[in-house]
Amino acid sequence: MDLGGYEGVIGLEVHAHLLTKSKIFCGSSAEFGSEPNSHTCPTCMGLPGALPVLNKKVVDFAIKAGLATHCTINRRSIFARKNYYYPDLPKGYQISQYEEPLCTDGYLDVFENGGKKRIRIKRIHMEEDAGKLVHESTIEASSYSLVDFNRSSVPLLEIVSEPDLRAPGEAILYLKMLRDILVYLEICDGNMEEGSFRCDANVSVRKRGEEALGTRAELKNLNSFRSIERALDYEIVRQIELVESGGEVVQETRLFNTSDEITYSMRGKEEAHDYRYFPDPDLVPLMVDEGWVESMRAELPELPAEKMERFMSQYGLPRYDVEILAGDRALAGYFEEAAAFFPEPKTVSNWIMSELLRELKEGNLSAKDAPFGPKQLGELLQLIKDGIISGKMGKEIFPEIYKEGASPKRYIEEKGLVQISDESAIVNTIDKVLAQSPKEVAEFKAGKEKLLGFFVGQVMKETKGKANPKLLNELLLRRLKGQ
Ligand code: ADP
Ligand code: MG
Repeated sequence: MDLGGYEGVIGLEVHAHLLTKSKIFCGSSAEFGSEPNSHTCPTCMGLPGALPVLNKKVVDFAIKAGLATHCTINRRSIFARKNYYYPDLPKGYQISQYEEPLCTDGYLDVFENGGKKRIRIKRIHMEEDAGKLVHESTIEASSYSLVDFNRSSVPLLEIVSEPDLRAPGEAILYLKMLRDILVYLEICDGNMEEGSFRCDANVSVRKRGEEALGTRAELKNLNSFRSIERALDYEIVRQIELVESGGEVVQETRLFNTSDEITYSMRGKEEAHDYRYFPDPDLVPLMVDEGWVESMRAELPELPAEKMERFMSQYGLPRYDVEILAGDRALAGYFEEAAAFFPEPKTVSNWIMSELLRELKEGNLSAKDAPFGPKQLGELLQLIKDGIISGKMGKEIFPEIYKEGASPKRYIEEKGLVQISDESAIVNTIDKVLAQSPKEVAEFKAGKEKLLGFFVGQVMKETKGKANPKLLNELLLRRLKGQ
């Protein structure tokens, strides 16, 4: 996009729900959904006298996220109270980390147009989520709200980037990479519709080449990659037009409306909350020693960026392929297993990216739940390589063998799809076809060589697509050229 000498500046605040069994400061279940107010206890309901006890698993997960994003894991961090009133926040404050978070100064490298760009991560801290208001309206046009505390005190990570992103597309690359990492670590399910991975975006604009940051607006209510990109596009242009027409950007919170795709002001700086943070006296400082960090480091899986590098060097795959394959842990596993069985990695990758992904998408399935396994894919590719069936036939039968989870070998035998590679059988059919088309044969001999395709088509029709294409071409040419 041409921005007339301006550039957008974006910093993101991501909230990720952690996949712990219980909540961050009590033993209530942290599971999503369920009967309203069934996952509650005095602590997460904010009843007087109930005290928080930190869930160790939340710290384990936060350390893993910090290590995977190259952060410093601070030996000491502090939980603070963020004070505000809202009906979904029964204590009147949210427990979060403020001045001394667990993780600081990390980064992620995103790949774009053949280059690599480092996006710094300012901090990662742990906090509790609030409950949820459910707004009901009745037929009598009166309306009321109900509160569900199941989500109250579910553990969250907040991951805050520095304002290093320069375009909406870059922001999306960063977010996808971050989400892939959290899902790889098995600490977050990454589900944006259910709000397990959500993002607020801070946006400002400035003249290209300028160092100072412009005044920023914060965009909320972004719950899909698409709305994040649209909202950023809109907001950058809005701010440039404002500045160009002599106006000034004001610091405010704006909401994105998904139906007309514009952002509008929700509250300005004057209405911004003063949260009066202070250390929570109910929780001691969190001390994390070297041994704890190292035991978490030992549990880290190979992460997407490392896997991509390895896939490129070990299998000689292009970056485009590895980004798709290694971005998803289950798909990467599928690929490696199939490539072990059929050691032509690029062919395996092509089939996964086209045929397999199409079927997985259609059934909304992860590769680990595919009815057609990696060994079966390897078997299919081997059959094609051995000339038992053509590649075209392989693609044709793929949807069916995939759904049935069939053995490709048995399937083609049962259906009589084995390719005809017997010379004399093909020659007989060729002779039959040539005898039926004397006019075309004469034209071919007079120099109209593109008629070869016509003869191939005729033979394929006679053999129901089963003639070995390479052999057919050879034999046909030999026949037509009178050898
Ligand atoms: P606060 O303390 O007010 O929350 P932070 O400094 O923590 O502010 O920044 C919050 C988010 O806003 C971060 O992701 C940061 O990168 C981003 N941000 C800060 N200033 C700007 C700016 N001028 N333009 C765009 N993003 C910004
Ligand atoms: Mg902030």
